[in-house]
Amino acid sequence: MNWVRKLKRFLNPPSPKPRMRKEKASPVSRIYDLQSIYQEINIEYFEGKLQLSIDWFGREKTSRKISRKVLGYYDDRRKSIKIHRSLDSPSFPHFFLSYVVYHEMLHSVEPPIVGRKRRRVHHEGFRDKEKQFHSYAMAKQWEKEHLAKILHG
Ligand SMILES: [Zn+2]
Repeated sequence: MNWVRKLKRFLNPPSPKPRMRKEKASPVSRIYDLQSIYQEINIEYFEGKLQLSIDWFGREKTSRKISRKVLGYYDDRRKSIKIHRSLDSPSFPHFFLSYVVYHEMLHSVEPPIVGRKRRRVHHEGFRDKEKQFHSYAMAKQWEKEHLAKILHG
């Protein structure tokens, strides 16, 4: 390699991102269609007005390490919802996944309340609306009975 090529290579290193490419190559869900779950909830609870993106994130194999907190999250800057890929499994009933999606969608219309000491994300207004979800009680019950077992083995 002469110095010109060396310099070029230094300035433009080959992109070492095979891992990311691999993950992007398989965004297809096996069990659940997030997009249609999102659309159904959008129409039923938000008059079809929300304009968010939704997708899976993470790897299925990490399921035993994940906690309730990372089953899903909402990114307000990107207007996007991410649901952990481990939920794309027959271990999780449809109503539970729907509840997680609804919860994240609610974050886009019930922003955190910033107080003097802390920022309250799941405040009273949020909780009230959350309870309006048709399978709220069922999802909470299911969460209590099964979630820890599934996530932590
Ligand atoms: Zn939340």
